[in-house]
Amino acid sequence: MSRNLDQSRSLQKRAEKLIPGGVNSPVRAFGSVGGDPPFLVRGQGAHVWDADGNRYIDYVGSWGPLILGHAAPEVIEAIVQAARNGTSFGASTPTEADLAALVIDAFPAIEKVRFVSSGTEATMSAIRLARAATGRKIIVKFEGCYHGHSDALLVKAGSGVATLGIPGSAGVPEEFVAFTLALPYNDVPAVVAAFDKFKGQLACVIVEPVVGNMGCVLPTPGYLAALRLITAREGTLLIFDEVMTGFRVAFGGASELYNIKPDLTTLGKIIGGGLPVGAYGGPAKLMDMVAPVGPVYQAGTLSGNPLAMAAGIATLCQLKANRQGFYKQLDEMAGNLVAGVTLAAKEAGIAMTANRVGSMFTFFFTDRQVTDWQSASTCDTVKFGRFHGALLDAGVWLPPSQFEAAFLSAAHTQGDIEDTIAAAREALALL
Ligand SMILES: *Cc1c(COP(=O)(O)O)cnc(C)c1O
Repeated sequence: MSRNLDQSRSLQKRAEKLIPGGVNSPVRAFGSVGGDPPFLVRGQGAHVWDADGNRYIDYVGSWGPLILGHAAPEVIEAIVQAARNGTSFGASTPTEADLAALVIDAFPAIEKVRFVSSGTEATMSAIRLARAATGRKIIVKFEGCYHGHSDALLVKAGSGVATLGIPGSAGVPEEFVAFTLALPYNDVPAVVAAFDKFKGQLACVIVEPVVGNMGCVLPTPGYLAALRLITAREGTLLIFDEVMTGFRVAFGGASELYNIKPDLTTLGKIIGGGLPVGAYGGPAKLMDMVAPVGPVYQAGTLSGNPLAMAAGIATLCQLKANRQGFYKQLDEMAGNLVAGVTLAAKEAGIAMTANRVGSMFTFFFTDRQVTDWQSASTCDTVKFGRFHGALLDAGVWLPPSQFEAAFLSAAHTQGDIEDTIAAAREALALL
């Protein structure tokens, strides 16, 4: 049943000599699930192929961007056309405002937007802007939420206590995260306590409105509204990090789904259609604090890159063309997939809790409800690793960590879903 992975193994050996861990982003190394990471050579629709010719039904989707599937014809055509006219100028091109208009149209809270090249840059810049706008230093984030790898946001939180953060990575001086407060997610009293303790000092609250980065975790009813209420009252900016959820859980992201208007929104992933793009946006009066209009410096050699803009525009236009129908269908198909796999787990007597919003979901190996980092960490990660490996052998590729969200794309068919459920049933029976 095991696949041939000879080519991937030798490619990994070569890469490890040249690149730390052989990878350019850590989780690709399969550290938390074990097994050999396949090297991919092709993607088409819902499927990817590795260097040994094995085919997989892909639920990673490049970690979120590929909502239309791999190599969507409209997107590829747009990139090729743009490339023929030059790949980068370091001067303005018409397509930047085209993509900006699409983003602003989708997010009522955004009047002006600035494009950068990654989600990390987007959140880092939004926080700089929030500190400038409020004249305050302390930022609030939540345990288990990931906002990219900038110093101030790499904070491992203490368990449930409103203490100032300690660095979650070597090389980040304690002083750099001294102004980062990490609180438990879905815990309104913890937020209230922090606002009491640091009255008048909190610049912003940054949150994944639906968390993807501890696995898929939903906001409890009223949680986002409570964040909106308290931040507005205290003059603190609310930042929705919609790098993953923007154009994923709804066209207008979690802001649309839960009907909340944050002060600043960060975007990435889908807005680049598989090319490197991030963005941050908000009301004109805030965004006009950014250089060259205002005093908040932020720049980028490849920002607004014409290929990336073309891919983003092609993707968003495709989503917008059948806005209601598109998300409804993805939601139904993902619902079928998740129902099928959880039923299979139940039949196999395996404790599993599935969380899902639209086409983003996680199968947690625990009997607990997963609502925050503490409950997520009750998962049996060894079991998840074995499940992951068995699915790979059966030609199904889930994200290689228990604490990541999986994604369905518009390219997945009913047949892919049935094959996945069948593979999961076999894998679960063997655990
Ligand atoms: C992926 C992600 C980021 C970081 O984006 P990069 O493009 O990887 O730098 C930030 N925030 C959230 C919510 C993400 O999912």
